[in-house]
Amino acid sequence: MIKFYREGDHSRGICKVCKAVVDTTFKITTVPLMSGKGKVEGVLAAACDQCGALVSVPQQSTARIQEGLFGKRCRVEVRIPKHLRDILLTICTEIASDVKPTEIEPFVMRYYMAHIASNKLKVACLKKHLRSKFLEGRANDRVSFRVSEQILKRFGQKLKMIKINQTEAIKAIILQAKMDLLDKAAPRRLREIVLSASAA
Ligand SMILES: [Zn+2]
Repeated sequence: MIKFYREGDHSRGICKVCKAVVDTTFKITTVPLMSGKGKVEGVLAAACDQCGALVSVPQQSTARIQEGLFGKRCRVEVRIPKHLRDILLTICTEIASDVKPTEIEPFVMRYYMAHIASNKLKVACLKKHLRSKFLEGRANDRVSFRVSEQILKRFGQKLKMIKINQTEAIKAIILQAKMDLLDKAAPRRLREIVLSASAA
């Protein structure tokens, strides 16, 4: 069972600064991410009563820290040919016919970017689409959405490995989604997109 604390509650813990077991008080504070890159504000954590250093972060704050991690989103906007946007919008109506397709677009894009970022989908799978005739044509339409900074960064690193740029990758993702969701029946993946992508 998780023990929940309130601001002002007291506990004990090991302070790395004082190098001793100390009394602590729970405070709303800023905590560093485990990775050391970045901080999350407004988190309940135990601080050393002697020196004020952060001693521990209770389990109840974990969800909030993840929220902070996923909270920062970056805009991605890519110009694409109109027929490619048509493909994407058709995929969206396949996923949910009772919602405006433009509202589903970010889910589809985030789903694929997150899967590539985490290696659940090999980035190399995008390469086979680069010679598709669907990639050609005037870029007279655009796809625009937000994605978490973390995912965008890791996605970018994966693209570097196979030396393709973001525009090519976004276009290739649309064709991968076409293959996965339109060309063959994939109800499980459709459901996955709706469930998982909102977190990215
Ligand atoms: Zn201390």
